[in-house]
Amino acid sequence: MLLYSLLGDFMQEYDVIVVGSSVAGLRAAEQLAKKGLNVLCLDKKQEIGVPKQCGEGISLNHLRRLHIKPQRCWAVQKIKGAALYAPNGKKVEIDFGKTMGFVIERKVFEKYLAKKASKAGATIKVRSNVTSVKRIKGGVEVRVSDLFSETYKAKMVFACDGPQSSIANMLGLSIKIKPEDLDSGIQYEMTNIEFEQPELIHLWFGNNVAPRGYVWLFPKGKDHANVGVGIGAHIKGSAKAYLDKWIEKRSGIKKGSIVEVNSGVIPVGGLLEKMTSDNLIVVGDAAHQVNPIHGGGMGLAMESADIGASVAAKAFEENDFSNKVLDEYNRIWWEKYGKRLMRILQIRYMVESLNDKDFNAIAESFTGEEIMLLQSGELAKSKKLIVKKLIKKPRLVKVMLRYLTSSNANK
Ligand SMILES: Cc1cc2nc3c(=O)[nH]c(=O)nc-3n(C[C@H](O)[C@H](O)[C@H](O)COP(=O)(O)OP(=O)(O)OC[C@H]3O[C@@H](n4cnc5c(N)ncnc54)[C@H](O)[C@@H]3O)c2cc1C
Repeated sequence: MLLYSLLGDFMQEYDVIVVGSSVAGLRAAEQLAKKGLNVLCLDKKQEIGVPKQCGEGISLNHLRRLHIKPQRCWAVQKIKGAALYAPNGKKVEIDFGKTMGFVIERKVFEKYLAKKASKAGATIKVRSNVTSVKRIKGGVEVRVSDLFSETYKAKMVFACDGPQSSIANMLGLSIKIKPEDLDSGIQYEMTNIEFEQPELIHLWFGNNVAPRGYVWLFPKGKDHANVGVGIGAHIKGSAKAYLDKWIEKRSGIKKGSIVEVNSGVIPVGGLLEKMTSDNLIVVGDAAHQVNPIHGGGMGLAMESADIGASVAAKAFEENDFSNKVLDEYNRIWWEKYGKRLMRILQIRYMVESLNDKDFNAIAESFTGEEIMLLQSGELAKSKKLIVKKLIKKPRLVKVMLRYLTSSNANK
C-alpha cells in the first residue's frame, strides 16, 4: 500500500488519456487540448497512419462539418459520384457533377491530424501499448508496455482503440459485437491498372461477387486505385478469395501491380446504446460508429470525437467524471447519428435478403439518384419509391418493405 502510494506520487498525470491515435483518437486529442485540457494520446503502432486499413474514401460533407480544409498532400483524388454495377453488368451512374468527396492518402491525413493535435497542445506517443486501465482514487491508472513503458494517471480515458477494442472492457463496459455485425475487408492498392472515370468510385454487387458487401475500386489517379472487397465476417470463404476471383476476370486490373495489401474488420451494426461509463468515453470503431451500408467510419469517428470532447469539457467544469455526466455523450450521439444509422441498418438487412436477380431488377428500375435515396435512411420516401418503381415485381416490393416497415426501422 505504501509502495503504491509512493508510485502514485511519481505517476505522470494528465487530464485525459486517449487510447488509439488514429482518426478518432487524434481528433479527440486535438479538440480536448483546444478546450485547455492536458491530453496524452497513445498508440501501440510505431508510426501514425501505418498500416492503413482503409479504402480512403471520405465525403466532403464530413470534412466541412469538421472544418477540415482538404489539403493537396492528402486529398489526392476528387470524387464526383459513384458507378454501381449489378451482377448482370448493368451500370447505374450517380454523377453529381461537382466534388462530393475525396480519396485520401490516409497515412498523410493521420499525420496531418497528429500535427494539429500536437499543435493544440496534446502529447502523442507511439509504441505505447496500453495493457491495463483501472479506476483508482481520483481517476484512472493507465499502464503502458512496449518501447515506452510507463504508468500514467488521468481523470478520464477516451477509448479510441478501434474495432477490436479492449479498453472499454477493462473499465467494465461491454462492447461485444456479433460476428454477423462485422464485415471482413481486404484491399490491394494497385498501380498501372486500367479503369474508366477516375472521378467516380466504382462498386460491384452480387452474391457471387461479395456476399453481404461489395467490391470497390477507389481511384487515386488515372491508373492507380484501392481495389478491395468487404464480405460478412460470418460468411464462409475468405474475402481474399472473392477479391482474387474478381480481379482474375478483369485483364485491365490483373495486369497491374499490388503495391500495398491491407485488411481488417469493419463493424457494420451492433450500435451501442451505452458508450460511456464512469471515467470513460468510447469513440469510433470501438463504439461501432460506422455506416452499416457502406462501412465508412472515418468521418463519423471524428464527428463523434467532437461530441465526446465537448461532454468531457463539461465534466471538467463540474469536476464530475461519473457516468451521470458523461451519459450526455450517448444522448447527443443517438440524436445526431444513432437514429439515422439504425434506419440505415434496416436497409442493410434488406439488401442482405436480396438475390442477384433482385439486384439486377433494382439496377434496371432505379436511377442513380433514386438509389442514393434508398441508402440514405429516408424510410418514408424510400417506401413510396419502391412501391412506385417496382409495381410489376410484387415479391421484391414485399421483401424490401418488410425491413423498412419493421419496428426497429421506425425507432
Ligand atoms: C478494408 C477497410 C476499408 C475501409 N474503407 C473505408 C473508407 O473508404 N472510408 C471510411 O471512412 N472508412 C473506411 N473503413 C473504416 C475506417 O477505416 C474506420 O472506421 C476508422 O479507421 C475508424 O477509426 P478509429 O480511430 O475509430 O479506429 P482505428 O483506425 O482502428 O484506430 C484504432 C487505433 O488504436 C490503436 N490501438 C488499439 N489498441 C491499442 C492499445 N491497447 N494501446 C494503444 N493503442 C491501441 C491502434 O493501433 C489504432 O491505431 C475501412 C475499414 C477497412 C477495414
